Amino acid sequence: MLSRGAPAYFVGPWDLNRAYPCVPSSPDAGTVVLIESEAKGAALPWHAKKLVLVLSAMRHFATELERDGFDVTVLRAPSYLEGIRRHVEARGSSELHAMRPREHALDLRFVRAAEDGTLDVPLHLHDDGGEGRPFLLGREEAARWCASQKPRRGELQRWRQDRFYAHVRQKTGWLMEGGKPVGGKYSFDADNRNVPKGTRPPKRLRFSPDAITERTMRRVTRDFPRVWGSVEGFDWPVTRDDARRALEHFFTDCAKDFGPFQDAMLEDEPWMWHALLSVPLNLGLITPQEMVEAALAAYDRGAMPIASCEGFVRQVAGWREFMRAVYWARMPTMREANELGGKRRLPTFYWEPETTDLRCVRSAVGQVRDTGYAHHIQRLMVLGNLGLLYGVDPLELSHWFWAGFVDAYEWVELPNVHGMALYADPTFTTKPYAASGAYVHRMSDHCRECRYDVKQRVGDEACPFNALYWDFLAKHRERLERNPRVRALFGTWDRWDEGHRDEIRTRAQALREAWEPSESYGEFADDDA
Ligand SMILES: Cc1cc2nc3c(=O)[nH]c(=O)nc-3n(C[C@H](O)[C@H](O)[C@H](O)COP(=O)(O)OP(=O)(O)OC[C@H]3O[C@@H](n4cnc5c(N)ncnc54)[C@H](O)[C@@H]3O)c2cc1C
Ligand code: SF4
Repeated sequence: MLSRGAPAYFVGPWDLNRAYPCVPSSPDAGTVVLIESEAKGAALPWHAKKLVLVLSAMRHFATELERDGFDVTVLRAPSYLEGIRRHVEARGSSELHAMRPREHALDLRFVRAAEDGTLDVPLHLHDDGGEGRPFLLGREEAARWCASQKPRRGELQRWRQDRFYAHVRQKTGWLMEGGKPVGGKYSFDADNRNVPKGTRPPKRLRFSPDAITERTMRRVTRDFPRVWGSVEGFDWPVTRDDARRALEHFFTDCAKDFGPFQDAMLEDEPWMWHALLSVPLNLGLITPQEMVEAALAAYDRGAMPIASCEGFVRQVAGWREFMRAVYWARMPTMREANELGGKRRLPTFYWEPETTDLRCVRSAVGQVRDTGYAHHIQRLMVLGNLGLLYGVDPLELSHWFWAGFVDAYEWVELPNVHGMALYADPTFTTKPYAASGAYVHRMSDHCRECRYDVKQRVGDEACPFNALYWDFLAKHRERLERNPRVRALFGTWDRWDEGHRDEIRTRAQALREAWEPSESYGEFADDDA
């Protein structure tokens, strides 16, 4: 044990990486404290597997540091700051090091504590961006980029992912040749919209629970009564070694076909060719830089075609960084944003998939309930799209995503839900991602055996997405018609006679009323602690 007065280092559950500046460089450089916040644990009806993931990954990280001679304390405390205060006092720490938290409200508390000396010791808050850190760009740099952007003529949104992504590519030189993007364009997205016919995804690498994880599973079952899903079948990576193996598995077995099939959905195939790396990545077990460098290496040795490699680099260096940049630029406003005025409560079937007969929805929610994961297109075009068309209260859906997904943290779920999925904050998406059943039909095999007919718009047998979609467009016409990417759709609506339009409105209204529950699934407590 280190003597009193040594500096203390707070490792947040999302900072589990020895190379981060919240971990002392050697065992004699300071004490390490990890905190299980009781307030955070009680804030939402968390997925049981998410609790196992985070608590087990923390325990593994602490155990590995201890094994290497570090002085480590894992504390349960009412909140993160209270836990830190107790540690600093008990150990007489001379100063405290921490990374900037990933949540706006928590970050504010830390910044204030650093400024007003609440902890009675100097608090050094380190940037979470830059070489080898959780994000590629420093926070200031990302903020400078956001501040430099204005809506261009005819554009409604202020920030565009494609411009941000080009900025990151130019800055890093990734997939660039002589100042130009390799292959002549920054994005190969248009090449990546295939549905596998006959090809099945590779077998997924699973991580069997060890003694620490098994102990954590028992604890979650015993101590957290308000969870969603179950701990049974937990197999997510919880250590850096696991994360490195997951990365290797992706580039050996999945990467080649990742690009072409990244938008496809197949019944009973939850993983497809996806990396599943957001889970260890958002815990700090691997870094975005490692992921991009692995993709570039795979491309260089011919194991990944340009469309797949670029698609992957765009997800990590483009979308992920962009989401984090706009989150900080828009908070706290983003949390309250509700551009389309959605007020409805989340339908019960988001928690109980067996209660819906919409096959695509039952499949996606069932996967989330069973594993804590659904891939991007399920999140955006099924779960998010339905919430958008139904008119859900954005914060209700946002809380559901945050609680239910093993990779969810506010900095990433909020911009994805409020911005991408619900168009509640329209400052950084080009249009609402609204779609009828035709999209699901094109990109999946769900409709084949669904009890609804994807080709019909009205009547009890018609796919519910269809009436909801047209009714949504009509309802928000005034606003959406200003958008050049949506305007053309109203020609179709106008061609239908008033009787058909009425049938659509009536069907949509009946669906909404039938789905709205009388009360929310669970009380959402203060989720900022
Ligand atoms: C409504 C909605 C909610 C989402 N919530 C989350 C969330 O809570 N946590 C989360 O990490 N991602 C979230 N995403 C983004 C994306 O769906 C997931 O990152 C991705 O599905 C994770 O699976 P994967 O690792 O297999 O990703 P892949 O498809 O293999 O992509 C590779 C990596 O790119 C990154 N990435 C890709 N798209 C995004 C994006 N839009 N935002 C941030 N990172 C991205 C991820 O880190 C991911 O690991 C959400 C998307 C939507 C539409
Ligand atoms: S028919 Fe409609 S509800 Fe059924 S699977 Fe297809 S899109 Fe989903």
